[in-house]
Amino acid sequence: MSERFYVNLPLCPGPFLLDGPEAHHLAAVCRLRPGDEVCLFNGDGHEYPARITHVARREITLEILRSAAPQRELPFTLEVAAPLPKGDRSQFLIEKLTELGVTTFVPLKCGFSNTHPRETKRDKLERHVIEGCKQCGRNVLMRIEGLTDWASYCTRGKPDELRVLAHPGQAEDLASFWRAASVSDQRRVIAVGPEGGFTAAEVALAIQHGWQAVSLGPRILRVETAAIVIAAAACV
Ligand code: SAM
Repeated sequence: MSERFYVNLPLCPGPFLLDGPEAHHLAAVCRLRPGDEVCLFNGDGHEYPARITHVARREITLEILRSAAPQRELPFTLEVAAPLPKGDRSQFLIEKLTELGVTTFVPLKCGFSNTHPRETKRDKLERHVIEGCKQCGRNVLMRIEGLTDWASYCTRGKPDELRVLAHPGQAEDLASFWRAASVSDQRRVIAVGPEGGFTAAEVALAIQHGWQAVSLGPRILRVETAAIVIAAAACV
């Protein structure tokens, strides 16, 4: 796969001028030169193979050769809600969920949440989404919602969606939950609690609103591990 570059602009075949950090990355970090081929994407579901025609200090000129729409999205909507873990762990979480094909990520605020507001900054999280898309070839960006309170999150939603939350010590395990799930479930919603766990009242409220609680096994996983495990199980 050619090196992929994100641009937040409409794209179509023809000449294109790339500037800003992506131009710097292309020329100074990847050391690409005229004649080299790259792939541009802007999150519109397409990718745009392009040939570099000129490299200057701050600008790269390319010829976009064509537009292609390879199918790399899941055949259903997958939403993951979790409190953001601290620092690099939240970057890891966002990149891996993007690679898995998650449609939407909802940063949660729960009773035991302990995240600094800076960590929930959407533009920073969106940069991690773009890094994930560059890595996995995805041409649709995972959507990041604003910080959402668990009580309002778990009581909203449609009755026909599959809603599952991870909570240690449940009788139902993840594997049997997904085995019982119907392939016709077009919208799957997954929630993971904070480092301190969901409170009993938070779990009870969710169950009252149609959520099912599952165990991920006898070991306690970190937030990002739990979210990745449960999202990966939903994808297969
Ligand atoms: N002491 C907390 C508790 O008992 O809930 C541990 C919280 S854990 C670090 C963070 C979140 O990951 C939990 O709220 C849950 O959603 C999920 N999680 C971690 N390990 C799990 C497991 N074995 N089964 C189900 N959920 C798990």
